[in-house]
Amino acid sequence: MNELTSLIRDIPDFPEPGVVFKDITPVLADPKAFRTLIEQMAAPYADAGVSKVAGIEARGFTLATPIALELGAGFIPLRKPGKLPYETVNEQYELEYGVDSLEIHTDAAANGEKVLIVDDVIATGGTAAAAVQLLTGIGADVVGFSVFIELLFLGGASKLDGVPINALIRYD
Ligand code: AMP
Repeated sequence: MNELTSLIRDIPDFPEPGVVFKDITPVLADPKAFRTLIEQMAAPYADAGVSKVAGIEARGFTLATPIALELGAGFIPLRKPGKLPYETVNEQYELEYGVDSLEIHTDAAANGEKVLIVDDVIATGGTAAAAVQLLTGIGADVVGFSVFIELLFLGGASKLDGVPINALIRYD
């Protein structure tokens, strides 16, 4: 875990003044650390009966797809508006300034199918909450939210409607 922590690069004032961006590209670039990260994010769900793993565009995709393979599950992309080709539903969420939204294919999961959601960072929780709404909206059973980094001081986990969160690294 220390090895993973030491590979996270803090970028002050990116993408805007006052934000310290947690850059995980050095972790992804290191094959041993990348493997450790995927195994540790997947491990809590080994016996959870997960049949699909949903990743949030774009950094969530890099973690969700290998976690899906590790769990013997399929992959669901949650994408920015206008990118998915089939029938979609859309969920808006608040950013610090303005709103954004995510979309899912209406047939991405079957009714009652157990789905794990994955992203790299949870900050204010708006993105994660929208992901939970999209999946429950199409009838999925969201078993958890697996995230590499949780920024505890922003309180995002409280927005997840009771979906349990597993974070590998937490910053106070
Ligand atoms: P939020 O909706 O505020 O929880 O923001 C979460 C989304 O924004 C995630 O998809 C992250 O990739 C990204 N994000 C927010 N804050 C940071 C940060 N400090 N460092 C890296 N990514 C961030």
